[in-house]
Amino acid sequence: MLGYGKIAYVDLTDKQVEVVNVDEEMAFKYIGGRGWAAYIIFKSLDQIIHGTHPSSVLVVATGPLDGTIFKGGSKTTFAAISPLTGIYGDSIVGGHLGSMMRGAGIDALAIRGASQEPCYLLVEDGRVEVESAEDLWGLHSRDADRKLREVHGDCSIATIGIAGEKLVNFACINVDWDLKLRRHAQAGRTGMGAVMGSKKLKAIVAKGGGEVEVADQERLAEVVERLRDQIVGSTLYEKWERYGTMSVIEWSNKAEALPTKNFQYTRFDGVERFGGEAVHKIEEYTSGCANCMMPCGHTISVGDSHVTVDYENFAMLGPNLGLGDLEAIAKANYLCDYYGLDTISTGSVIAFVMECFQRGILDEERVGFEVRWGDAETVYRLIKLIAERRGFGNLMALGVRELARYIGGGSERFAMHVKGLEISAYDHRAAPAMALSYATCDIGAHHNRSWAITYDLEVGRDDYGEDKARRVIYLQHLRPLFDMLGVCRFPWVELKVDPNLYAEAYSAVVGREFSLDDLLLCSERVWNLTRVIAILRKGIDVEDDTLPARDFEDPIPDGETEGFRVDRERFMELLRSYYRLRGWDERGWPTREKLLELGLEEAAEKLYG
Ligand code: SF4
Repeated sequence: MLGYGKIAYVDLTDKQVEVVNVDEEMAFKYIGGRGWAAYIIFKSLDQIIHGTHPSSVLVVATGPLDGTIFKGGSKTTFAAISPLTGIYGDSIVGGHLGSMMRGAGIDALAIRGASQEPCYLLVEDGRVEVESAEDLWGLHSRDADRKLREVHGDCSIATIGIAGEKLVNFACINVDWDLKLRRHAQAGRTGMGAVMGSKKLKAIVAKGGGEVEVADQERLAEVVERLRDQIVGSTLYEKWERYGTMSVIEWSNKAEALPTKNFQYTRFDGVERFGGEAVHKIEEYTSGCANCMMPCGHTISVGDSHVTVDYENFAMLGPNLGLGDLEAIAKANYLCDYYGLDTISTGSVIAFVMECFQRGILDEERVGFEVRWGDAETVYRLIKLIAERRGFGNLMALGVRELARYIGGGSERFAMHVKGLEISAYDHRAAPAMALSYATCDIGAHHNRSWAITYDLEVGRDDYGEDKARRVIYLQHLRPLFDMLGVCRFPWVELKVDPNLYAEAYSAVVGREFSLDDLLLCSERVWNLTRVIAILRKGIDVEDDTLPARDFEDPIPDGETEGFRVDRERFMELLRSYYRLRGWDERGWPTREKLLELGLEEAAEKLYG
């Protein structure tokens, strides 16, 4: 396929690398990014024992718009069987990694095996080399990045921290530290850092400067022109430039959806102390991903370093822990990055322990010290213990589902996860579409697949109508499509840019005509494929497409949404509509007919024989 189709298969056990050109049919069927990742993992499924076993395959996939002149064109997918959930997991990261990989002539990596000694991958000039990382192992993510940059100069670097080395189930991957012109970003969700750690893979360095091949550069330039006009012409542009996602703190609080004290409450007093405006006042610089014209990397200083902040990090490490001090939240955020931990899962697991103390389920004797809401020093201490897997932190490193099983005492009912993935920062008791999004998300409860809460606000917070299921399905196809193309979704989400432009850009790049509907069909195919992977790995079905007991049983205690909770019966009705609209059966399995309709013959064969 023109310009996009080179996968490097890397075997770390015997240090072999083979670069292959992708079969054109597969390239178009799955587009790229998470689409390619899901397909590669599906094909290897029989050999994979678990996510952090040497048999596991870690896919690092760019998308066909990565590295082109298209705006916001630099997103990269990290995907594998998740150590946290046991099903397909992925995390999408911005920054410059994707464009550098493509500029280096490699579109995706499929990494198998495990090295005996610490190593890193160097992607350069169409080749991938396995290099020694003996002197990097044991370093924090930022320090490993700095050391590698001294050697490789202008490049993009993905590193794991101590948490990844120690196989914390929600370890993240950092991309590029402290570069004012390049956004510092994380592949946070589903424990991809632990997968790297299990392979003794400390880092991936991409050093690219080459041109990315485009079938019709003139047409692409013309599409970019229209995209640019829509971005700068948007009435929302100025606000986005000023605050990025941080203004969502105030929005979420007002909407009574801001997780507070482990999702017990939905509002927090004093958000103005750490929300969008407060961050804007002390911001040091704003950085962006490659080729972005609406940068959102708002960066503030923390000690001798910096942290790039966003809504999810601040919500989960702030109000969700009863913490309202900007400096303290920023420091907790920084420590998560430094040690290499997903901020959402870390915030959730610490909040869970805090609530266990509140309810007398845990005490000083079991944990080793007292844990109280809003105690910043304890938060820092727990982050370190989790990353280093020491003391009680070793149990917390398993994630909230496993921790609750271990603690017992009724704590499972407020362990805030779906399928093992900690829920991101939107309370959904007064938002049925958002609740359905979390319950059905293919990697566990993650907001980025279907951020449907705005739809709830628009059409009614007590509305469980079928339209909500329809909306969630549409979002579950459209939003991941950006990840498959390798571009940022924010121009569409935040500034309402026409999504058809993305189909036009893809057509220009690959030299074949695709409508948005064609691409949405590819995304639906991938959604069904990840579902089949979840069924084959863990027997996922209707029992798993659910929410923590808290959502059904604990009404919102105050505010305008006081009394709201997810109505179990109406929710089940909504879920049944969702299955029907998807062409899935009552168990929540895609029917054979549906899989065949989507061209997933191999998946149909595996599931139904
Ligand atoms: Fe990256 Fe933010 Fe720009 Fe998107 S809007 S490309 S996340 S800097």
